[in-house]
Amino acid sequence: MHRRNLSRTGLLIVLVALVVSADYARGWAAVSFISSGLAHLANRTQPVSLESALLETESKAAPEFAAGIWINSRPLTLKNLRGHVVLVEFWTFGCYNCRNTLPTVKSWHARYRDKGLTVVGVHSPELDNERDIANVRSEVASLEIHFPVLTDNDFATWKRYGVEAWPTLFILDKSGRVRWRHVGEGAYDDAEQIIQQLLTEDEQSRDKAKPVRIETAEMKEKIIKNDEEWRRQLSPDEYYVLRQSGTEPAFTGAYWANHEKGVYYCAACGLALFSSDAKYDSGTGWPSFFAPVSETNVITETDNSLGMARTEVKCRRCGSHLGHVFDDGPRPSGLRYCMNSVSLKFEKKP
Ligand code: FE
Repeated sequence: MHRRNLSRTGLLIVLVALVVSADYARGWAAVSFISSGLAHLANRTQPVSLESALLETESKAAPEFAAGIWINSRPLTLKNLRGHVVLVEFWTFGCYNCRNTLPTVKSWHARYRDKGLTVVGVHSPELDNERDIANVRSEVASLEIHFPVLTDNDFATWKRYGVEAWPTLFILDKSGRVRWRHVGEGAYDDAEQIIQQLLTEDEQSRDKAKPVRIETAEMKEKIIKNDEEWRRQLSPDEYYVLRQSGTEPAFTGAYWANHEKGVYYCAACGLALFSSDAKYDSGTGWPSFFAPVSETNVITETDNSLGMARTEVKCRRCGSHLGHVFDDGPRPSGLRYCMNSVSLKFEKKP
């Protein structure tokens, strides 16, 4: 992340504070004296990482682009982009955080533009040489950026979006509403999942739908229980699958043929795991999804049991077994999260 009005040295301090605060959070007390000295900087970054992992926390209409010179495109408006998922990235060519993010953004442009994603790079300059449109054109060409770039020398679009740092990414749904925002590098898996989810959403149904707030594993306390406690809490079937990595027989669970809209939570700890938006009929007899609600809510581990090499999926909050993930799923992810119904608790959502 690269904040406006911070010197390069200031940026370095922010980065040190970020590293230190992360280690401090893990209990590395030896560096706590440094982190306390920089807490005002480190704290400013914390809401960002939480915020970035949320799904659908915001559903405000995105501000229209302000006037500016467009590169790689005729002038675009959000009004005309209705029906497209739009990724807006605020960047400037001299910002190395932006350069680190660029390969991923370019890959999304390449992979999803034919599926309805429009990427717009809003170039809001930091240094004088970044204000020169000829320089911007030259950098766009040499960085092999093929998506539309709007030059924002007067920061008009920047201000409309309330941006404070480079890079900042917004993902807009087909109705032009902000559904995700992230400041700084990273959270690429989450962003891609959001893009995939929004591409599958119907514009009109989204208009009627209420936003669903999904909590990530980081936002909830980890659940650690001993075997006896799990035995007492769970039914024998739940215990067998969730705690002993068992598998329910195909076509017997409650959810393999469930087509209702809603969220599937961990049956052991209540963490949100899957949305009906990512569910599909795999024909296997187990509930199948092409993506979890957030990469941060599941963990995967190699499972070589039963003479097969498989990838086990567990709940990140409580470590309970959920099922396996295979690479024969449908587009857009190509993944099949093959879950046990007994590991899940479904809640209907409008
Ligand atoms: Fe759990």
